[in-house]
Amino acid sequence: MRTEFLPFAKPSISEEDVAAVLETLRSGWITTGAKCAAFEEALCDRLGCKTAVAVTSGTAAMQLALHAIDIGPGDEVITPSMTWVSTPNLITMRGATPVFVDVDRDTLMASPDAVASAVTDRTRAIIPVDYAGAALDLQPMRTLSSERGIPLIEDAAHAIGTVRAAGEVVGSQGTAIFSLHPIKTITSGEGGVLVSDDEELGNRIRRLRFHGLGVDAWQRGQQGRAPQAEVIEPGYKCNLPDMNAVLGLKQLKRLDAFIERRTELAMRYREQLADIPGVTPLSDSAETQRHSWHLFIVRVDPDTSGIDRDGFMEGLKARNIGTGIHFRAAHSHAWYRNNGDMWRADDLSNTEWNNDRICSIPLFPDMTDADQCDVMDAIRAVVPAVEGVQT
Ligand SMILES: *Cc1c(COP(=O)(O)O)cnc(C)c1O
Repeated sequence: MRTEFLPFAKPSISEEDVAAVLETLRSGWITTGAKCAAFEEALCDRLGCKTAVAVTSGTAAMQLALHAIDIGPGDEVITPSMTWVSTPNLITMRGATPVFVDVDRDTLMASPDAVASAVTDRTRAIIPVDYAGAALDLQPMRTLSSERGIPLIEDAAHAIGTVRAAGEVVGSQGTAIFSLHPIKTITSGEGGVLVSDDEELGNRIRRLRFHGLGVDAWQRGQQGRAPQAEVIEPGYKCNLPDMNAVLGLKQLKRLDAFIERRTELAMRYREQLADIPGVTPLSDSAETQRHSWHLFIVRVDPDTSGIDRDGFMEGLKARNIGTGIHFRAAHSHAWYRNNGDMWRADDLSNTEWNNDRICSIPLFPDMTDADQCDVMDAIRAVVPAVEGVQT
């Protein structure tokens, strides 16, 4: 059994990353400036989006988007309950009502039909999620969005580098957010990005990220603050510092290498988990041309495996293997359980089935083949339905 704990995720920080951050620290300009602008430009190049606005988190990017489309009391926003709870929280904090839609049992993504049937006269936004690095079936939602005039914001926090059918890079069309949290595919320490093909929206978000001032603190060619800048509209304070942006910029260059390694590990897991009864990976969505493998999620079904999810996680932990839950369904969190009048949902049966069974097992680029063998050995030891390996 391994003696060193293997986390389920770990950022891959190279000496070049470290040197770039140090150089920025020593440069005399550490808050939002040239590095942030270069990062945004690199994102537009890599993803093919018209505009990219870097902020302090994926949550901040979504918060600015909800502000920009004026979500408020009486409005409904459709999103899965199987998402990171930041989205329902933000909807609720704007005084609006989250309307939770169920997800496909094996991809964890909202189906276009579920979204369509949740639309009412009060629906003001749709926020679906590209889950675990796969691509969701967005086209029918785009049609619905343009027919009904309902803004669509793609939560692509898991999906930087993902490509959907017909070669469309996630983020290249419409409006999407990415997260740069350390567990995500690339990181800036903390950070997030809003990308859009709507430049007007991008400019507004850029203004909202820094007090609603007419210019950024740093402006190209000016290398300093513009003391005469005026508030165009009250805004937030969530600009991404250069110390973080430069890390994001360096990590973006390694995005493809990260995804290649993640894919290799994911394919091996799939192959080997086929022999483990009741421990079932997610399925590919038909829309996914290139999966970025942000997470490797299995569902532990006690009826077949002989162990429940929590027991599985404990068993792995005792063998020094880290795991996570992505995610605990939003409607099952304490506040949402206790405030059932603050959200709506129709049928959440697939969400609930998965809520008791999902578990993320270790997957990160610096993980070695030997680490992966340790994970598989631990799974074989922990799952009672695997015969003859109990230790
Ligand atoms: C990580 C994540 C977010 C929020 O990103 P932060 O950078 O942590 O604020 C939003 N949605 C989903 C689905 C996520 O996984």
